[in-house]
Amino acid sequence: MPLRQRLADLRGPAVPPRPLDARALAALAANPGCGRRALLDGAGVDKTALAGALGSPAGFGQSQFAIARGNSFEARVKADGGAELLRLVHERLGAGGEPPGGRARVPDLAAAGPEGRAGRTALALREATAAAREEGAWSFLDHPMLVLEVAGTPAYLEPDAVVVHPDGRWTVVEIKSFPMIDGSADAPKVGAAARQAAVYLLALERTAARLEGAEAGHTALLVCPENFSNLPTAAVLDLRKQRAVTRRQLDRLTRVEELAAALPAGLSFDVSRPAEELAEAVASVAASYAPDCLAACELAFHCRDRAREAGSVTVLGRSVRGELGVLTTVEEALDAAAGRGEGPDDGPSPERAALRLAARLRAEALDAAGDGGRRLAGLPCPRPEVP
Ligand code: SF4
Repeated sequence: MPLRQRLADLRGPAVPPRPLDARALAALAANPGCGRRALLDGAGVDKTALAGALGSPAGFGQSQFAIARGNSFEARVKADGGAELLRLVHERLGAGGEPPGGRARVPDLAAAGPEGRAGRTALALREATAAAREEGAWSFLDHPMLVLEVAGTPAYLEPDAVVVHPDGRWTVVEIKSFPMIDGSADAPKVGAAARQAAVYLLALERTAARLEGAEAGHTALLVCPENFSNLPTAAVLDLRKQRAVTRRQLDRLTRVEELAAALPAGLSFDVSRPAEELAEAVASVAASYAPDCLAACELAFHCRDRAREAGSVTVLGRSVRGELGVLTTVEEALDAAAGRGEGPDDGPSPERAALRLAARLRAEALDAAGDGGRRLAGLPCPRPEVP
């Protein structure tokens, strides 16, 4: 069966695919070992709806108020043919070249469907690069459409803007509504914006590779409200590290085709099906839960509950999971600490030996600390309290 048809069956025959966006790709790249997310995203399943149907609705996302505020700020930054945005690009990344004045080109990117828009954007980038070389023109592409192949499936991505400089360079612009106070902003939010911009940059590089003389560079411009006002300010993001990490992670993503082929026929994530059936379908695709999922994936509460039920050590975080090596459940770790669960001929694994040593040191320390130490550690006192 062709992959497209197989993915449509998984999604539900009457359900339109949910397109991948850069935010989802950045989150996907942050957890490349999760086949569940790779398959659901590759099949275009609406994970928010799926989480709701499973009885574990997603716990993150922007409020309507925040979305409206973000849209109004973006409109302000892009007003008058992107005059303010181009001023900021020239100020931070102009490399001493001519300012755009009021002469920037603003190509029309309208076309039917994402494929049409991606084609129109590629053409506009080609024309803008030629205009830069011949006339030294600036070009401002408002919501261009870029395409990036991910796990064998094309993902259509829409950055806030791309600016073509008079020297032919291309710059991704990310507009966010969180404030930049005295020149710096909330580090996790800036990090998320940089990962997202790195996804756009990778897509832009693919287009640039087909165009002679085009260069996508390695920086992006982050535009935010200045302090507590509605006035825009900007900072340059160096994306070299994020681009390398994202490229490596996306290349490692398990191919959707292989994941889909391993599933039984008739399995579906159609949210109109009963919750038990959906839970069974979701459970048939291996997941790789980590607490970081809570900030990045709509299925996080569902996956966390299943991981807890299974006593998996993944709920304790990636570093603990890595330290415990072959021990994958809390029960196994407790057994190892107590010296249980080894075959008579097995030598202890390094993880078991380390846990046993840690348990012995802890017991010795608690003995030395007496009842007070046991109480501080939240343990019952071995001796009754003397009144
Ligand atoms: S929440 Fe579940 S599906 Fe989402 S990335 Fe984590 S493990 Fe994978």
